[in-house]
Amino acid sequence: MKQSDEAPASTSFDDSPIAREIANLSARRRTLEETTVELSGRTRVFTVSNQKGGVGKTTTAVNIAAALVSVGARVLVVDLDPQGNASTALGVAHNADTPSVYDVLIDEFPLADIIQTSPESPKLLCAPSTIHLAGAEIELVSQVAREHRLRGALRDYLDIEGNHLDFVIIDCPPSLGLLTINAFTAADEVLIPIQCEYYALEGLSQLLGSVQMIQKHLNPGLHVSTILLTMYDGRTRLAQQVAEEVRSHFTDEVLNTVIPRSVRVSEAPSFGQTVIAYDGQSAGAIAYREAAVEIVARDTTKKGS
Ligand code: ADP
Ligand code: MG
Repeated sequence: MKQSDEAPASTSFDDSPIAREIANLSARRRTLEETTVELSGRTRVFTVSNQKGGVGKTTTAVNIAAALVSVGARVLVVDLDPQGNASTALGVAHNADTPSVYDVLIDEFPLADIIQTSPESPKLLCAPSTIHLAGAEIELVSQVAREHRLRGALRDYLDIEGNHLDFVIIDCPPSLGLLTINAFTAADEVLIPIQCEYYALEGLSQLLGSVQMIQKHLNPGLHVSTILLTMYDGRTRLAQQVAEEVRSHFTDEVLNTVIPRSVRVSEAPSFGQTVIAYDGQSAGAIAYREAAVEIVARDTTKKGS
């Protein structure tokens, strides 16, 4: 009746943006299914860092971990944020009485005593955080080898026969205190999630400066190997511009895959799940699986570390 309600004659469902998106997603899903990945046999230790809050660190840590598990890896997520969001997303207990990373850092518990298995997969492990970790930042100050506590615990764990891990992913709090320093000292690679919004690059030079300081004084092998653009909304010019700008600064580090802004990604943790388990066929899950495949393929860990 009303002219404006009628679709233009040339538009069919097949070339509508939604239909194109669905076709694109199924093609990517098929490619993923046909992709075989080869794990190096070494343990790659990543710290997911960015001193800004809310940029997708935890979301990236747990979903990359689950995506790596989906291609056959055995993965440990170390939750170093007193908020315990990574522990929540992996469905592991982390109430005040739970043995946690706090006990490892302060009382030198072996990692094996606190590690839990996520209900998602026997290959997905988590060293949970509890609220006690909030005090660790200050308690660590007076401890011997305070910057090396996590590194030592990880080494001891991996030295035990049968404890092989393909990846360790450390989720950091949004600050550059002793917890984050412990992560930088324990890791070989830094994974920086960058939110595709205005101010995305702000604070990045401070983060890179901290990485340089750690390289110089505590861990020469540390390097920024991976940058992941997240919460990307391809409909906005701003997101596209930010992505282009980041790529022009960090040609080698930025993954081709970008993580879209997706409701499925943000609602998964409320079910104690990663998006890989919650809705493995969704756009967010597919993107994290593609990012994981890229991470396995672009192994930049220097030999001998
Ligand atoms: P950080 O650990 O850096 O503080 P989070 O991973 O907790 O950041 O993410 C901050 C918020 O953004 C959370 O509410 C999370 O659910 C949401 N979020 C993260 N990534 C996405 C995404 N790709 N799409 C939609 N929401 C996201
Ligand atoms: Mg977080």
